[in-house]
Amino acid sequence: AVEARHLVKRYGDLEVLRDVSLEVPEGSVTSIIGASGSGKSTLLRCLNLLERPNLGELAIADEAIRFDRTPQGDVVGLDRRQLQRLRAKVSMVFQQFNLWPHFTVLGNVTEAPMRVKGLSRRRANALAEHYLERVGMADKRDSYPAYLSGGQQQRVAIARALAMEPRLLLFDEPTSALDPERVSEVLSVIRGLADEGRTMVLVTHEMAFARDVSDQVVFLDRGVVGVAGTPQDVFEDSEHERCRHFVAPAV
Ligand code: ATP
Ligand code: MG
Repeated sequence: AVEARHLVKRYGDLEVLRDVSLEVPEGSVTSIIGASGSGKSTLLRCLNLLERPNLGELAIADEAIRFDRTPQGDVVGLDRRQLQRLRAKVSMVFQQFNLWPHFTVLGNVTEAPMRVKGLSRRRANALAEHYLERVGMADKRDSYPAYLSGGQQQRVAIARALAMEPRLLLFDEPTSALDPERVSEVLSVIRGLADEGRTMVLVTHEMAFARDVSDQVVFLDRGVVGVAGTPQDVFEDSEHERCRHFVAPAV
């Protein structure tokens, strides 16, 4: 399971996450929804340790880490090796794909397993072939990203994330940069991953998809969890005024 407890994240005086707790059981899908600026991406980046929370605790699989500061503001209790071990358990897929333009599709997928995990090229290639097959991109292994559609690039980015064999997969608005006719090919890959029991946290504006694929939905409201529960709880039964208003167009 993945557990975040009492996360606080500030940028200067701006408190973006204010005491956010979240539990994602093993093999389940959590969607995070909320208005622009509510802190969704910041929360994902904290789960990925791309950002360091100011306060709180994070547990991923069998590894837990606690963020704290001395009265002088120094971070205490952070062990670099532990941070690296935690990072290696999480992979993220971004809105803008972020593929490396000067690497082929295969190169994009094999790079991190070789560099971070120390796999041989042969093993990394085998792993990459497997996951490219999984997302329907095996035939493009020698292409460069610039020659692929957005949907194809995003599927490669998903293969790249999977090749790290993470315990937790994060998606930050994976379809927002796509042409409408390319959205479904990416959503169907994500749905397949959900069906095979991967632990995932997804930030999305695709409300119908979130409702359909999620075990849990979290409505983030100005840096706090406004509502968390089943899709039914959040999309239909919530009494939270801003949540009702936010999901209204989708209901
Ligand atoms: P969106 O739906 O537009 O993607 P979001 O819910 O993902 O929004 P965040 O990107 O997490 O929101 O941003 C939350 C708040 O934190 C915003 O006010 C944003 O301006 C601020 N913020 C985010 N990153 C930084 C940063 N690196 N430095 C300063 N402020 C930041
Ligand atoms: Mg965002």
